[in-house]
Amino acid sequence: MSITFNKSFTQQESIPEAGIDAAVELMRTGRLHRYNSVGSELSAAALLEQEYATWQGRPYCLACTSGGYAMQIGLRAMGVQVGDAVLTNGYTLAPVPGAIVNVGANPVLVEIDENYHLDLVDLRAKAISSGARVLVLSLMRGHIPDMTALIQVCDELDLAVLEDCAHTMGGSWQGQRSGNFGVMAAFSLQTYKHMNTGEGGLLVCNDEQMMARAIMHSGSYMLYERHGAAPAPEVFEEVRYVSANMSGRMDNLRATLALAQLPELEGNCVRWNERYDLLFAKLSQVPGLYLPRRHKDEHYVGSSIQFMAKGIKTEQIPDFVRACAEQGVELKWFGEAEPRAFTSRYDSWRYLAPQYLPHTLSVLEKTLDMRVPLTFDLEDCALVADIIAEQCKRFVD
Ligand SMILES: *Cc1c(COP(=O)(O)O)cnc(C)c1O
Repeated sequence: MSITFNKSFTQQESIPEAGIDAAVELMRTGRLHRYNSVGSELSAAALLEQEYATWQGRPYCLACTSGGYAMQIGLRAMGVQVGDAVLTNGYTLAPVPGAIVNVGANPVLVEIDENYHLDLVDLRAKAISSGARVLVLSLMRGHIPDMTALIQVCDELDLAVLEDCAHTMGGSWQGQRSGNFGVMAAFSLQTYKHMNTGEGGLLVCNDEQMMARAIMHSGSYMLYERHGAAPAPEVFEEVRYVSANMSGRMDNLRATLALAQLPELEGNCVRWNERYDLLFAKLSQVPGLYLPRRHKDEHYVGSSIQFMAKGIKTEQIPDFVRACAEQGVELKWFGEAEPRAFTSRYDSWRYLAPQYLPHTLSVLEKTLDMRVPLTFDLEDCALVADIIAEQCKRFVD
């Protein structure tokens, strides 16, 4: 077979027409700054906070510049101090250790298992040995673990959880939305995530003191009363004097784009899963590939797919990836020693104290990762899976 697939793996759908119209109208007003509102008018940024808080089912929401920024000020608001140990997954994206380092804390990496879930035995051991009080739970590539078990272990260990929901916006565990388990949760609106404003972030929580601090940190000057899903003004009485301004505000233009996408989010999650489930079913049949198990209580959003090429020798994986690429199928290999684009292994983050996670390394050594853009239809996905299967046959022992 020498069929070539020729759609781009990095092509998003366009912004809904209503969003384009709203953005153009906003530009005509010139009032792009989130606090530049007239009278009692709610800015688009404030409206996004209100609507997202309602959609997510949390009382408080802050819109800011990126997912990494949301995590960083979330950690500050949770009281993390310079020199503290903060636990996080050994398999995650660079903005996560970056956010921890940004507050002057030390990331302590926890092992993952073959289904890309946090290893609770290692979590317990590292929580005790490091003395950490906070876990940044990265739901990397949208794999949601047994949240009931995880939160129970965290409660026992007195660990406060900040959920990194960059890939789980719209996902849930036993009917409870991802992002509603931890003390705080951060979402990304970066272009490859479930809502696309180019860059952007959302931080949610139930704790009024923490949210007041996060809002002050985000650079609200003293205009916190213009936020859409903020605690009452009295809550800011003390906080406003002691929380440094670390400007990272969401602007109205991006907020406008997100507001137009929110009503389509649920439907888009269904469309992602149609594509993911088809890929999953086909790739599960391919000898030599291992697809991660999904628990029946996990409601995921399949905006990307991961699998382990267990039947291919590690030294052959680069050739396999190249052969797929020659037929237009873009796979990323998390086992690669050199970090490339969005694919980086924890040992390339050399600004961290050296750590060794043999189990995570052995999982990543075989892990391949592929985006599932909504611009692919089901036939495209079938063709992509066929190309992978065909090439796999050539490389599996
Ligand atoms: C995208 C992403 C983030 C946040 O990224 P930003 O680019 O800062 O918005 C955090 N964690 C994971 C796993 C991500 O993929």
